[in-house]
Amino acid sequence: MKRFISLTVLVIVAVLAAGVFEARAAKPKIMILATGGTIAGAQAKPGEAGYTSGTFSVANLIAAVPLLEDLAQVSGEQIANIGSQDMNNAVWLKLAKRINQLLATPEVDGIVVTHGTDTMEETAYFLHLVVNSNKPVVVVGSMRPATAMSADGPLNLYNAVAVAADPEARGRGVFVVMDDKIFSGRAATKTDTTAVETFQPMNRGVQGAAYFGKNRWFPPPGQKHTTKSEFRVDKAETLPRVDIVYSYVNAPRDMVDALVAAGAKGIVLAGVGDGNTTDAVLAALTEAAKNGVVVVRSSRVGHGLVRRNIEVDDDKLGFVAAEELNPSKARVLTLLSLMHTKDPKVVQQYFYEY
Ligand code: GLU
Repeated sequence: MKRFISLTVLVIVAVLAAGVFEARAAKPKIMILATGGTIAGAQAKPGEAGYTSGTFSVANLIAAVPLLEDLAQVSGEQIANIGSQDMNNAVWLKLAKRINQLLATPEVDGIVVTHGTDTMEETAYFLHLVVNSNKPVVVVGSMRPATAMSADGPLNLYNAVAVAADPEARGRGVFVVMDDKIFSGRAATKTDTTAVETFQPMNRGVQGAAYFGKNRWFPPPGQKHTTKSEFRVDKAETLPRVDIVYSYVNAPRDMVDALVAAGAKGIVLAGVGDGNTTDAVLAALTEAAKNGVVVVRSSRVGHGLVRRNIEVDDDKLGFVAAEELNPSKARVLTLLSLMHTKDPKVVQQYFYEY
């Protein structure tokens, strides 16, 4: 009898253990690739506004949110540890190649990239166009450093992992998750220097809401991205040079001339209003376009479309209109376009499709 009871207990324990093991094994495998930013930032003294980006490691970030274990099997890798004002082509290429490598294996179901918020909108759009997988990729950061009162990083990270682990996130491109909202990497843009609710979806709505790890999804964006994108950087060692020229009252042509002389292959105009600029800048851009530089008209305004041939004769001058993209996103699409073509008509088509 005693033997029978101990055998029964053994069987029950074995069944329970198998259940736990299975539950753990069934959890999505999420890799966190850390690049730095405020989410990994530390203040010299708690309560101070000043801090240093990229102080904590990916292991510190994961350890700070033990509840991540409920959502996924999480592991981490440090890609860089920089403030995102220092984000650069080398880190972009390293990050994109590593993401494509990881997502090609069954060992990874989704990726979270921790990133500073200053240039997050550019990295998210870049990855949206060059990641070759349907698996979710989520870019996340925080506005307050890890040591701050009411730090927003831990919940943002938790929500980001929940999105990356969500089967409904598949095939929708790269996301930015911040402040309980899920944005397309194409639309997310920083609109406030310091506020927690800084990210807004430029010209579009959000992709969903992230409620403490539970997601509500809205209709997906229509443009091409990830697996449907024709832009690939897996074999690239460099990216073409594309710069942004800001317009204002009395703006001279010197900046355009200096950039062309420095070897810019593309110039994005952060124009006034509907992508306009002074006659002087327009003359310099016209010359640049004639000499094979791809010129894209966007706007410094932050919202609204810049369409062809409204106040500027794009057909005659050989320019491209940025449509929905602000200058920083237009720069990303222009530099990827330049890996295929210098023809402004083809580049314009990309701006309609991506
Ligand atoms: N300059 C920092 C960065 O982009 C601060 C912005 C942030 O992460 O919130 O890394």
